[in-house]
Amino acid sequence: MVREIIAKTLLSSVKQPEPWFGLKYNMNLYRGCVHGCIYCDTRSECYGIDDLSDVAVKANALDLLQDELRRKRVKGTIGFGSMNDCYQPLEATVQMTRRALEIIARFGFPVHILTKSDLVLRDLDLLQRINQVYAAVSFTLTTVDDALAQKVEPGAPLPSRRLAAMAQFAAAGIRSGAMMMPVLPFIEDTVENVRAIVQQTAAAGGSYIVAGLGMTLRDRQREYYYTQLDRLFPGLREKYQERCGERYYCPASGTQELEAAFNEACTQYGIATRMPVYAPQAARQPRLL
Ligand code: SF4
Repeated sequence: MVREIIAKTLLSSVKQPEPWFGLKYNMNLYRGCVHGCIYCDTRSECYGIDDLSDVAVKANALDLLQDELRRKRVKGTIGFGSMNDCYQPLEATVQMTRRALEIIARFGFPVHILTKSDLVLRDLDLLQRINQVYAAVSFTLTTVDDALAQKVEPGAPLPSRRLAAMAQFAAAGIRSGAMMMPVLPFIEDTVENVRAIVQQTAAAGGSYIVAGLGMTLRDRQREYYYTQLDRLFPGLREKYQERCGERYYCPASGTQELEAAFNEACTQYGIATRMPVYAPQAARQPRLL
């Protein structure tokens, strides 16, 4: 049985300017996420989620969305999936994301989807409709090595599937690209990995990569991550402790060299290092499609 919770509000305003995806609003239709990435920041205490895998649906989310969109005076990009993946497996049956997209399409707002799942392909028709205003679909790629991804993102579809989905979006004329974030220190912070992500994104027809060379580490997130390091990568906890201590941000090794390799590869393969965001000044007013 699907666990349900009631939300007070749905859309949160994002502090401007939002540097990554040009978001104006953000929303979470679920609470929790079964993709189980070992580095997930949603485990941090400030979010109050004791068990990330115990997923709940915000039962009144679609009513709230309709009501809140009706009252919005400023049109801006709505982001899905900051605290969970809006295409995690439960979405296949409850279709909260699909139904939210239907509402957004009617109100004519732009959308950015960030996901690790090729289930997003199911909603290609709706995203094409929304793309009359603006739609972008970004896939998180921290590695393109399926075997490594299975360790660090154990419940998520493999990167090869994400890239195949990216290719279909690109072929359908929808902006698509990658979010290369986090880049896990001592695990994914190699020039080879960074270059492979750029090369495979380009091969899939992706047009941009938004990158962050390192990871966050905070209270319960750090505790969980270190426990998983002990299990999967024995000996790495000590290296992290030495480099990061109690700090919130833990940088990748050789950040400058990695950044140079990333920029060089993006130039070589024609990949933008910033995503093409929705530009309100060039846009029409919100309208019903
Ligand atoms: S997909 Fe995102 S929200 Fe879900 S576990 Fe992974 S990092 Fe966390």
